[in-house]
Amino acid sequence: MKEVLLLKLGEVVLKGLNRRRFESRLIANLRRRLNKVGKCNVYIMQSTIYVEPADGVDMDEVVDAVHNVFGVAAICRAAVCEKDIDAIWETVNTYLADELESVERFKVEAKRSDKKFPYNSIQICQKIGGDLDDKYEHLIPDMHNPELRVTIEVRDKFAYVHAGKMPGPGGMPVGTNGKAALLLSGGIDSPVAGYMMAKRGLELCAVHFFSYPYTSERAKEKVMQLAEKVTHYSGRMDVFVVPFTEIQEAIRDNCPEEMFTLIMRRFMMRLAEKIATEQEAGALVTGESLGQVASQTMEAMNVTGAVCSIPVFRPVIGMDKEEIVQISRKIDTFETSILPYEDCCTVFTPKHPLTRPKKYKVEQAERALDVNALMERALAGVECITL
Ligand code: ATP
Ligand code: MG
Repeated sequence: MKEVLLLKLGEVVLKGLNRRRFESRLIANLRRRLNKVGKCNVYIMQSTIYVEPADGVDMDEVVDAVHNVFGVAAICRAAVCEKDIDAIWETVNTYLADELESVERFKVEAKRSDKKFPYNSIQICQKIGGDLDDKYEHLIPDMHNPELRVTIEVRDKFAYVHAGKMPGPGGMPVGTNGKAALLLSGGIDSPVAGYMMAKRGLELCAVHFFSYPYTSERAKEKVMQLAEKVTHYSGRMDVFVVPFTEIQEAIRDNCPEEMFTLIMRRFMMRLAEKIATEQEAGALVTGESLGQVASQTMEAMNVTGAVCSIPVFRPVIGMDKEEIVQISRKIDTFETSILPYEDCCTVFTPKHPLTRPKKYKVEQAERALDVNALMERALAGVECITL
């Protein structure tokens, strides 16, 4: 029996005149993702996206792939059949055989977008519902709380039979809201932040600050693994690795200890903004969460955010660690994030960091450094890895 996916669009359909652009982006994202699974025909008709895998393509893998593509609100895995009421009945019996045996309460739902089909939706429900009731003694029709929704969609070319909608990933198609640069560390929070903004339709590039030999080659590989996992949702991503050792040493040698982290983070924001602008990215994304550490108080974020002029998105700002961990488990970054390699933030950590810094004092302390020269040298050493 031939199986396809019918994908229902989420917020995409609300977008008025932009709708075409959203739909074509979603289709392009789906095609790119499905390429890795096998040959599939993907097209849109009557506000539904059809995914028709070629013979031999593993349908479970197709479903898994589609589950990560933002903009898909619901997924129906359906059997294709001729537009004939007997063929539909036959397909219901064979395709949904296991479900029909294992449940008690059922309901039939029908949609007829082909108005030439001789039965309207109500008549399809009555006919198939009545036949099911007759054939299976254990089945009880339940309109309000069914365990199984026997669904029949009579569409343009064929009829489709399925067991109801599964929720899709939701969100908006990656790329429809522009591009941003994700500050990606090896921790738990920043991969989650990247995932959340990809879900809101942002394409991502990533920036990682690397302090060799204070942080090891293995720590960098860990960050690459995390970035790769984020690409399962965000799609293709360039990762820019910025050499950060000289800057950290200069801060250590020339600035007051309680400001180390703040000044370091100001460099991160400046450098990330430079890379973002070059990459035509309009915002930065960080994994900061209010009050989580000294550098994430309101005053500290004021001091660190002050050096950049593009918006900084902090999607986990209002979340507890436990909530962030839950998402990181869901997107499968948690186990990698907790691998025990050091991050450049943990090198030269002050014993008593300022939690309520004054911007002018930090600016004053920074005057001991040649900020522009340090930035230029760091940018000259940037390495780009495309995932
Ligand atoms: P995470 O759990 O994501 O590592 P964190 O709890 O370690 O964050 P901080 O070290 O204060 O918190 O970093 C806050 C944010 O700054 C991170 O979420 C990330 O966006 C960015 N960041 C920190 N270190 C780096 C780094 N080495 N390279 C790129 N971005 C970084
Ligand atoms: Mg954190």
